[in-house]
Amino acid sequence: MQTTFLDTSIEFLKGVGTHRAELLRKELNVYTFKDLLQFYPFRYVDKTKFYKVKDVNSDLAYVQLRGKIVGIKLQGEKRKLRCVATFLDDTGKLELIWFQGAKWFADNIQPNGTSEYVVFGKPAEFKGKFNIAHPEIDPVSAENTTLASSLQAVYNSTEKLKQRASLDSKGIARLIKSMLSMPNYRIDETLSESIIGRYQMMSRAEAMKQIHFPQNAEMLKKAEFRLKFEELFFIQLKLLKQKGLRETTTRGYVFSQVGDFFNTFYNHHLPFQLTNAQKRVIKEIRMDMGNGKQMNRLLQGDVGSGKTLVALMNMLIAMDNGFQTCLMAPTEILANQHFQTISELLAEQNIVVGLLTGSKKTKHRNALHAQLQSGEMHILIGTHALLEDEVKFKNLGLVVIDEQHRFGVAQRAKMWAKNIQPPHVLIMSATPIPRTLAMTLYGDLDVSTIDEMPPGRKAIQTIHRFDTHRDRVFGFMREQIALGRQIYVVYPLIKESEKMDYKDLMDGYESIARAFPAPGYQVSIVHGQMKAEAKDFEMQRFVKGETHIMVATTVIEVGVNVPNASVMVIESAERFGLSQLHQLRGRVGRGAEQSYCILMTSFKLSAEGRLRMDTMVRTNDGFEIAEVDLKLRGPGDMAGTTQSGVLDLAIADLAKDAQLLYAARNLVAELLTDDINLTKPENAAIAAQYQRSMKTGTNWSRIS
Ligand code: ADP
Ligand code: MG
Repeated sequence: MQTTFLDTSIEFLKGVGTHRAELLRKELNVYTFKDLLQFYPFRYVDKTKFYKVKDVNSDLAYVQLRGKIVGIKLQGEKRKLRCVATFLDDTGKLELIWFQGAKWFADNIQPNGTSEYVVFGKPAEFKGKFNIAHPEIDPVSAENTTLASSLQAVYNSTEKLKQRASLDSKGIARLIKSMLSMPNYRIDETLSESIIGRYQMMSRAEAMKQIHFPQNAEMLKKAEFRLKFEELFFIQLKLLKQKGLRETTTRGYVFSQVGDFFNTFYNHHLPFQLTNAQKRVIKEIRMDMGNGKQMNRLLQGDVGSGKTLVALMNMLIAMDNGFQTCLMAPTEILANQHFQTISELLAEQNIVVGLLTGSKKTKHRNALHAQLQSGEMHILIGTHALLEDEVKFKNLGLVVIDEQHRFGVAQRAKMWAKNIQPPHVLIMSATPIPRTLAMTLYGDLDVSTIDEMPPGRKAIQTIHRFDTHRDRVFGFMREQIALGRQIYVVYPLIKESEKMDYKDLMDGYESIARAFPAPGYQVSIVHGQMKAEAKDFEMQRFVKGETHIMVATTVIEVGVNVPNASVMVIESAERFGLSQLHQLRGRVGRGAEQSYCILMTSFKLSAEGRLRMDTMVRTNDGFEIAEVDLKLRGPGDMAGTTQSGVLDLAIADLAKDAQLLYAARNLVAELLTDDINLTKPENAAIAAQYQRSMKTGTNWSRIS
């Protein structure tokens, strides 16, 4: 493909050059003209008008006001000194507050009620009154009362860019302006006329101009709509095209019958009644494995909703059709647990279940390989050791991947190669994820959702306690142990502070061992630095009820199932993300007893930390928690999604633009139904952009 204007290297832009280009690449990931064009402002400043005090509300990002100061005072002690001024215009009063330079403001602002000032800042509400913290304030002058003709874009810059290349927000705006005014600057349309017409969208060229240099708020809104829509549209196009392609080119094994394995289990060994949601989902999966297409399906459900059983029953169907199956888990502990659960459930049936993890000895492996290749083994459970090339099946029909987020797409693909035709793939997600995220992250998969919990579960009670109340928490733990319950105490372990965390864990373990002395109390400990056998041994002691307390790092986060454990104490809970907290909490509440989750934090909590604790205390609904998490952290930082370049959106926001995403996806589906290969002339612009996005490094390909 010919290099187009937008592919030009950034150093060739007037005013850039090699030095600045290098910094732009390093600091902002801006390599080409296109990258700069898509380096969108993160907010806008509105100095196009003066607001009146009566029109101020806290939804406004920034307001510019004109009026007088009718009172000023210094409040507070030395270090916490603040200056509070009362601002007045002809409609009302509000407070201006400065914490930094308080004295300077108190000395220099005239509170005489006659000198006029221009004030600019972000309004906030406090006890029903409005104030502005740290506003800009200047005496009225010819300059600052001449209103700006347009909104001003503000760009994120970095210290290095500012200091070494004098590229602050204004500098970046200048570069963009110069690019937009180059004689050969040209922006091609990427959507079809019918789509543009249907949504009365701005053209792409106009949108690019307006997003950087908006004429007014209304034009800016239209530009944002256009660019967000387009971004989501092409992501969905890529996903749905991939899906379509796979469905037309990849055939799947047809599981046409339900036989003895399934029926015997269902009629004689099912330990409890399936929930309606489980029944529905089992059926969805079964239908999908019988239609001749290869299944690629995501199984979603809250922690404890019973995904394992659903997977198992579909594995039995695969076996009824003469196929082998495997179940891959992200950790050794979890693989062991699955092996045990499934072996017990199938104990009465003539089914061979194997376990393969990294710590298995060669002899065991060799025997296992032979059983797999002869077809004698029906089910293989394990960790990513299953991906190894030596692991060959006679006839693999269904792969179940538990807690997907720990595995990458490449690993998924590796399982495909384990039979002549790719086996069916069922992915179980570790935590509920918001719909917008699922549609993007797993947009090429079909989705089944278990939206109902097994009956008889008592809602877990969640309590937030400060560290200073540890003695009371210990007292509560003793009561619970006296009732025959078991307890988890979990410590954070984060790569960057591993050493410190490890010390915290050991200190914590010691203080617990002191507070719960043997022989009356038995305490287990499990952490990442232990050998697999030692971990397993400790885990088993707890599973068997030989120990009362399990002190652990987050290695127990996923999947572990000990129904008698009814208390989860999470230390330094403020250091965990919401989905992780929810996962951990899901380790309890699996038996018939009332369960508790105790979140321990220090007294000092950030506003966000407090919101996380409050959310946990308020609700047990994993989907609701996931939504809050998405709002707080954005999709890129949510558990397990970090490797996914798909979520690096330039302008759309999966937390806020849900409706837009649904619309874009529907539109793409409609488009592909009508013109699957995008060959119709009216879709030429879309096809061209699709080709470009596949070939060149926009968002996803740069990352993957
Ligand atoms: P998750 O969806 O988090 O993987 P699991 O599959 O581990 O959940 O199931 C959680 C617990 O619920 C297990 O102890 C399992 O035996 C139990 N369970 C699953 N389905 C049902 C059901 N229909 N009725 C009662 N208990 C169930
Ligand atoms: Mg599970």
